Amino acid sequence: MPRLGVLGWPVAHSRSPAIQNAALAALGLGDWHYQRLPVPPALFEETTRALGAAGFAGANVTIPHKEVALALADETSERARRIGAANTLSFGAGGAIRAENTDAPGLLAALAIDVSGLRAQVLGAGGSARAAIWALLDAGAADVLVWNRTRERAERLSADLGATAVDHPQAADLLVNCTSVGLRVERSSAEDGDLNQLGLRGDQIGEYSYVADLVYRSSPTPLLAAAEARGARTIDGLDILVAQGALSLELWTGRDAPLEVMRSAARSAVG
Ligand code: NAP
Repeated sequence: MPRLGVLGWPVAHSRSPAIQNAALAALGLGDWHYQRLPVPPALFEETTRALGAAGFAGANVTIPHKEVALALADETSERARRIGAANTLSFGAGGAIRAENTDAPGLLAALAIDVSGLRAQVLGAGGSARAAIWALLDAGAADVLVWNRTRERAERLSADLGATAVDHPQAADLLVNCTSVGLRVERSSAEDGDLNQLGLRGDQIGEYSYVADLVYRSSPTPLLAAAEARGARTIDGLDILVAQGALSLELWTGRDAPLEVMRSAARSAVG
């Protein structure tokens, strides 16, 4: 029985098992199984190196392990190397570990627009911002602006990747939220403050044709609700999660991912 899983700490909230097991069943791969792998940083390398021998064909990697996952791999894709993080590991015969990054192409697939020549405003300067900025520039975006609560991080990341750090979010074709603002699951009056935490005024949202939010939860985030109300096309975090998971699944199984099945599982899973 080939095994798959998601390595993280914590990982209890992950919807990936629901998404991937639904996909495996739809593909007729009922003998495959995808599970949570809660592994603290101190045990990450030892555990990951043992997964191949334990019957694992592959694993997704999430917070806080993506950089270490890249470092320990025997083989790495150029994309993962250039981003500096891996979210997908494959375990070959003989124990070789191959690292890939599907976060970047997953974002582009979920956006489903040609970003070449577009101007993009990215919010955030953490791990997911790094993959998003790299993806947008690699796909030919004319300019990628980076705003972050902590300005120095935006400057460092921008200098590293060839983007432009800004003091306030600017008008652009596309806005991508890569911060964790909006993560709260329950709606509350405090959400009104969420746009402010992103450096945005409500009326500014109308300046973007496309608004993507990496944060995923069952109800729309305040950012996507505001963007929808102003007529922007929105792309939510669950579709982005599904898109990167679909690319990982295709790597492990060699089969086309059943996207609709995965989207439906993502929406009905409890995060
Ligand atoms: P990370 O590396 O920890 O970065 C967090 C970012 O959020 C930083 O830029 C941080 O700014 C900012 N931030 C946190 N709290 C803030 C606040 N109160 N006000 C303003 N900015 C704040 O995290 P990450 O891995 O990039 O993930 C970010 C979010 O994306 C998470 O919610 C994660 O679940 C989600 N995500 C979704 C997907 C998907 O497939 N949909 C994939 C990856 C991540 P500072 O630098 O100032 O601290």
